Amino acid sequence: MIFDAADLPSSLQVRADLCVVGAGAGGATAAMIAAEAGLSVVVLEAGAFLTPADMSQREDEMFPRLFWEGGNRTTKDRSVKVHQGRGVGGSTLHNLNVCKPIPQAIRDAWRRDRGLEHLPNETWDALYAEVEALLSVSAVPRAQWNRHNLLFERGCEALSWRGGGLSHNRTGCLGSGFCELGCAYDAKNNAAKVMVPRAVQAGAQFFSHCQAVEITHAQSRVTGVRATSLDPSSLQPRGTVVVEAKRVCLSASATATAAILLRSRIPAPEGAVGDGLRIHPAVVVAGEFEEPVNAWRGIPQAYECTEWLSEAEDGHRLWLLPAFAHPVATATFVPGRGEAHRALMERYAHLGVFTAMLHDHTAGRVRPKGDLGLSIDYWPDADDRKELALGLEVCARLLFAAGARKVLVPAFPSQTIHPGDDLSRLREFEITKGGIDLTAVHPMATVPMGDDPRRAAVGSDGAHHHMDGLFIADGSLFPTSIGTPPQLSIYAMGLHVGRRIARA
Ligand SMILES: Cc1cc2nc3c(=O)[nH]c(=O)nc-3n(C[C@H](O)[C@H](O)[C@H](O)COP(=O)(O)OP(=O)(O)OC[C@H]3O[C@@H](n4cnc5c(N)ncnc54)[C@H](O)[C@@H]3O)c2cc1C
Ligand code: SF4
Repeated sequence: MIFDAADLPSSLQVRADLCVVGAGAGGATAAMIAAEAGLSVVVLEAGAFLTPADMSQREDEMFPRLFWEGGNRTTKDRSVKVHQGRGVGGSTLHNLNVCKPIPQAIRDAWRRDRGLEHLPNETWDALYAEVEALLSVSAVPRAQWNRHNLLFERGCEALSWRGGGLSHNRTGCLGSGFCELGCAYDAKNNAAKVMVPRAVQAGAQFFSHCQAVEITHAQSRVTGVRATSLDPSSLQPRGTVVVEAKRVCLSASATATAAILLRSRIPAPEGAVGDGLRIHPAVVVAGEFEEPVNAWRGIPQAYECTEWLSEAEDGHRLWLLPAFAHPVATATFVPGRGEAHRALMERYAHLGVFTAMLHDHTAGRVRPKGDLGLSIDYWPDADDRKELALGLEVCARLLFAAGARKVLVPAFPSQTIHPGDDLSRLREFEITKGGIDLTAVHPMATVPMGDDPRRAAVGSDGAHHHMDGLFIADGSLFPTSIGTPPQLSIYAMGLHVGRRIARA
């Protein structure tokens, strides 16, 4: 069953073998595995339960329903936007369905540094095969690449840069282009479509509009979760929900999981919780094309460029992709004011936007704020800023190679570049707070797993080293940035940790 906690009595007490916090990629998967293994499972989800019929394809309606802080979550000094999803299905409701595993070189480095005895290569490979089958992952058919992605490919080919088609978890996709606002056609094979129904079928109970505040514990053992139901309109606390459970699995994403652990005063080694945050910060560059691009139509990301993403430790760390947005979001980053801004927006159909996403080394911090909030402290260090400036240059080069007749760098003040201008000066661009928009959609690595309980809070089976009955199954577990889209690997952690819980 899926209950809306807002419809239930304002003081609620439930009991289960397992309480999962968060119904996204990690949580829905762990809940499915545990419920199918015979455990009674309660899943608390702060967001709403929405179906394809609720996805209205309107930015003003869907951003507040699908994203934390209505899509306006930022770092505490507002220098970086951090988009994260909420709802039964989590960020998989609105993500762009790109599927890639963590590169072998990164997994090898983790094993050297952290051990990860429960995640040998064969286990990773088997988990990826299982997730790909569950989500029906396949290559995006070339016939479905839109003009924006074809221009991106043209740019790569003209520059002889390494690139190729991407894989995705969609079936029956109509190419509407509204992925970021949720799919009205149920074409995304995501947590809401694949895992939640199976978990419910196996008896799991989901409570939407129910936000966990803290884990309760006594004598180094979890006893449950204290939560609050939320008013669906104001999202203000409405009543208390107490879950008694001998097992708790935190899957509230890399920001909220760390915040809940810290708020609950769960013992852990110094610096092992909340301090390793990576986010894959990204810059965007826009190009204006003679012919309409109509980039909002069709599958948003079908082609990638890996020319500037090296597996070598000291190599470049930029992953390039097309990154278009709907009109409201576009208007927030298109430079200029008044008439100048209007003139640019009138050329919306002619814009192409490319992004450089950074495999970041900078470690940021997450801390709880009050009972329900959290704060994110992150600003890329000098090396990472240098890479991001290079990202501006390579996106501009790619746009011109794709045929753009002018390129706009949405900085403050904005920069307009014409064919033949010296692009290498962008490499020297100073990335400053407020001087340019940085956006991140992949928070991770706030509770890095490791075999050594003196260094890590949690092992590579997801079990907490210092609190019996506590598990973690989300992107928090990664020891570093992964430089690739994380969803496949987080689903994999849901399977892996879910099975460990079922054995506990
Ligand atoms: C715009 C966008 C596009 C993306 N595109 C891609 C892509 O193409 N490919 C890819 O691999 N990845 C993509 N991602 C990232 C990917 O979706 C996430 O990395 C992944 O879903 C994270 O899984 P998770 O389980 O850690 O967290 P989530 O899926 O975010 O789930 C966490 C859930 O916990 C809930 N929660 C938080 N706090 C509480 C609390 N206190 N109590 C109860 N519930 C709580 C949240 O509401 C949320 O539903 C994208 C992300 C965004 C924002
Ligand atoms: S492009 Fe495909 S997956 Fe995305 S919203 Fe449209 S139908 Fe759904």
